[in-house]
Amino acid sequence: MSVTDPEPTVPTRDQVRQAPKVLLHDHLDGGLRPATIIELADEVHHELPAGDAESLGRWFAEAADSGSLVRYLETFDHTVAVMQTGPALTRVARECVEDLVADGVVYAEVRYAPEQHVTQGLTLDEVVAAVQEGFEQATEAAGGRIVVRQLLTAMRHQARSMEIAELSVAWRDRGVAGFDIAGAEAGYPPTRHLDAFEYLQRESSHFTIHAGEAFGLPSIWQAIQWCGADRLGHGVRIVDDITVADDGTVTLGRLAAYVRDMRIPLEMCPASNVQTGAATSIAEHPIGLLTDLRFRVTVNTDNRLMSQTSMTAEMHSLAEAFGYTLTDLRWFTINAMKSAFLPFDERLAIIDEVIKPGYAALAG
Ligand SMILES: [Zn+2]
Repeated sequence: MSVTDPEPTVPTRDQVRQAPKVLLHDHLDGGLRPATIIELADEVHHELPAGDAESLGRWFAEAADSGSLVRYLETFDHTVAVMQTGPALTRVARECVEDLVADGVVYAEVRYAPEQHVTQGLTLDEVVAAVQEGFEQATEAAGGRIVVRQLLTAMRHQARSMEIAELSVAWRDRGVAGFDIAGAEAGYPPTRHLDAFEYLQRESSHFTIHAGEAFGLPSIWQAIQWCGADRLGHGVRIVDDITVADDGTVTLGRLAAYVRDMRIPLEMCPASNVQTGAATSIAEHPIGLLTDLRFRVTVNTDNRLMSQTSMTAEMHSLAEAFGYTLTDLRWFTINAMKSAFLPFDERLAIIDEVIKPGYAALAG
């Protein structure tokens, strides 16, 4: 795929860090700084599995890496527990954006489930307002180096998706770009929340659905053909509808062909998939095949804390595994920006005024 590339070398980690990057799939409760968790836990007397930032960071990574879904999910109990007040949410949101700026991210959509942050009495509106406050503080401090939007997530095993969909529409001109559902796929198909998706479609609103991460094609098929998802969260299992013969001939099933033909964006999160077992390694991650086949592939972090990752780390590891050049990374980045839930003219402005000049400067 790099035949016409004028600079066919794998970029250094520092070059990748400097390159403008776009992030569409990042969980606010999966990206806290360990030191912040410790301070916030202290304030609310929440007991943590480790007492200093370094060992706590390691605990998160090990629990997420353990191969046990129970232990993986337990990590979120601790982050969500310390995100139950307005000031705590604002701080976490502000630091999230500061970390993304330092990582060279120029546009981000950060998601979380408001319904998980109301145990201490906040209303859903107050949760969204507190997060928005943090995003605005940090974007202002960054002086225009980043644009950030919220995505509001509903938990697929709960029954509040309609309420959260209405919340995302109520906030759409004040920092919320769209809606998502997340949580265990097996047993909780997206069609369970059809009323919420139909409401969003009537409202001309945007949404993505976590689908095809661990669970297979039926989940992707429902997300697109029943629910009308604009993008797929992960979507890795779309490879189950693609066959590669021994002679290299590739055949796409109808669903895979539809996803590619309609340019439906795949929010791929390689490091996270390796941790949860949805892929065996970065080198064997389906992102390589899907990129070769020119699906609308985007690269994302999912949970920066649990996966000890960043956009720089994700892109650099892909470059090392697949030999991707800056031209390839630019392709992922423009794919992501084209797929953002931002108005078309604003997307175009970031592509033309930030991403293209940024990569041109690095190549030069
Ligand atoms: Zn996710």
